[in-house]
Amino acid sequence: MGTLEEARLAREVGADGIGLLRTEFLYLGRPTLPGEEEQYHSYRAILELFGDRPVVLRTLDVGGDKRLPGLELPPERNPALGLRAIRLFLTRPEMFRPQLRAALRAGVGHNLKVMFPMVTTVAEVRAARAVLEECRAELQAEGYPTADVAIGIMVEVPSAALMADHLAEEVDFFSIGTNDLSQYVMAADRTHAAVAPLADALHPAVLRLIRDVIAAAHVRGKWVSLCGELAGDPAAIPILLGLGLDEFSMSPTAIPQAKGMIRSLTREEADQIARAALQQESAEAVRALIR
Ligand code: PEP
Ligand code: MG
Repeated sequence: MGTLEEARLAREVGADGIGLLRTEFLYLGRPTLPGEEEQYHSYRAILELFGDRPVVLRTLDVGGDKRLPGLELPPERNPALGLRAIRLFLTRPEMFRPQLRAALRAGVGHNLKVMFPMVTTVAEVRAARAVLEECRAELQAEGYPTADVAIGIMVEVPSAALMADHLAEEVDFFSIGTNDLSQYVMAADRTHAAVAPLADALHPAVLRLIRDVIAAAHVRGKWVSLCGELAGDPAAIPILLGLGLDEFSMSPTAIPQAKGMIRSLTREEADQIARAALQQESAEAVRALIR
């Protein structure tokens, strides 16, 4: 979800929640950053549409090649490997505090979850949680009620996928970001037309990491969502189901077909398809298998 209109559309086509609220929409196309009050009202409007259904708010994912007019950052030689998302958050917490405070206030009476993008290490998660808890204490001291939000991370950097056992101890849930995970696993810039096809999330290298992330989380009683484009891809749905994925997050238009597909499969069929997909040698072979 990127806007209130999209959130409305999602409800109309049967979304059971929002798996990825991309909060960048509030920050784009304006010369200054939005304040706490404005963010509070925007989040509240979206949460009200969804009642007690889950809404997963992702903290601002900018920096690197995602630029904002209201935010001056030095140019970078390797923006995809640079100061973005949680890395920027931890360098400039004052910029993110209004967002966390707005979220903690807006979530009261709703089913809000908060997640951090581009996590690479356990230390980052601990530091980000500490900032969130400081914001909560501050709000409480000021007399505001605060929501008891579940905390998650995006698993979209290979180190996070490989350290999923440790990271699962730190959070309530994972959301796998296959758009970035595939570009980092395949070492192929997702914005570079000549190499982007290499960053195919159906490549068995990516699927094997997804398998391991889900398994590591489940052993520790944590749930796993997937919010990259892969979750809405009809070729991927049987595989992801077979790998044990708990939640699928996709653009609203993909929901009806995805629901139909999930209903048409048995658990055994999905398990078999997933097992076979993991043994293929290429993304093309995985697609051929699904066909
Ligand atoms: C992802 O990386 O899969 C993701 C959902 O985040 P974004 O596309 O916004 O980087
Ligand atoms: Mg991403």
